[in-house]
Amino acid sequence: MKPAPFAYVRAQSVEHALDVLAEHGDDALVLAGGQSLVPMLNLRLVQPAVVLDINALRGLAAIDTDPASGALRIGTLVRHREIASHQTVAARAPLLHDAAPWIAHPAVRHRGTLGGSLALADPAAEWPACAVALDATIRLASRDGGERSVPASAFFQGLYQSERRADELLVGCDFAPPGDDAVFSFRELARRHGDYAAVGLALSARGRPGAWTAMRVVFFGVGDTPVQASACAAALIAGVDFPEAQARLEGELDPRPDLWFSAQAKRHLAVHLLREAWRDLGNPMAGE
Ligand SMILES: Cc1cc2nc3c(=O)[nH]c(=O)nc-3n(C[C@H](O)[C@H](O)[C@H](O)COP(=O)(O)OP(=O)(O)OC[C@H]3O[C@@H](n4cnc5c(N)ncnc54)[C@H](O)[C@@H]3O)c2cc1C
Repeated sequence: MKPAPFAYVRAQSVEHALDVLAEHGDDALVLAGGQSLVPMLNLRLVQPAVVLDINALRGLAAIDTDPASGALRIGTLVRHREIASHQTVAARAPLLHDAAPWIAHPAVRHRGTLGGSLALADPAAEWPACAVALDATIRLASRDGGERSVPASAFFQGLYQSERRADELLVGCDFAPPGDDAVFSFRELARRHGDYAAVGLALSARGRPGAWTAMRVVFFGVGDTPVQASACAAALIAGVDFPEAQARLEGELDPRPDLWFSAQAKRHLAVHLLREAWRDLGNPMAGE
């Protein structure tokens, strides 16, 4: 199929992009890597009046450090492959480094962007879950409202639904410096490598085995948004036996079946990933 007709606008500056979004609102869609938008246009799942191409805005393609907060600042146009190979990302946000190779195939990773993935809010995608696990901050800009920051944990509102208003451009995402005692685990199960996750887990924690002080356990592919298993994390910090933490997790997950996996199978896979991640953190399992 071919897309319905639309006007193509190549943004010349961020201000220009914000003007177009302010003028057209819901009738304009941003084109970043195009890896999701172009298929949606071709299938006529979306029929915007305007496609706003932001690829010329090189200032949105940088990875740097916010001098005030020390946060790792990743621009919206940074491609998945750059996150996978960037030394600063590997040192400052190893969870992103570990997750990147799980996103699709090299061709998609060469074009797809961090901001496009966050804006799309696909519940089976890696970046939204990592952003929640790392307590990241998503930055949005609009002509009339300036820039605002939204914690990732409040950004994802439902299936492909986010806090972003139609007149807002997602400009980047900030990741606070990890503490010296921060550890991470990324785990995913997919039918084939490169497929969207059947179930995935992004976990961040502070402390050490037997003395955890903070933990975020975030599953993806099991709900309409990334699912933060807070009761399970609290149980693990409190030092309960793994079976009890597992029971808490099962109480927190209400996965939707998909074409290949029943809800029960997804719950089973989630527990398996939790067990693997728990080992990654150096925790002994009973009987080992
Ligand atoms: C075969 C295939 C397999 C894939 N597998 C995976 C996978 O395993 N895991 C995964 O996470 N993803 C996967 N993807 C999706 C891929 O990661 C996309 O790159 C990503 O979902 C969207 O990023 P993009 O830059 O291509 O955005 P686009 O396709 O350009 O845009 C996606 C949506 O976000 C909006 N948007 C984009 N940028 C902004 C912005 N700055 N501000 C406001 N709105 C914006 C667009 O208007 C559009 O609605 C796959 C894609 C393909 C084609």
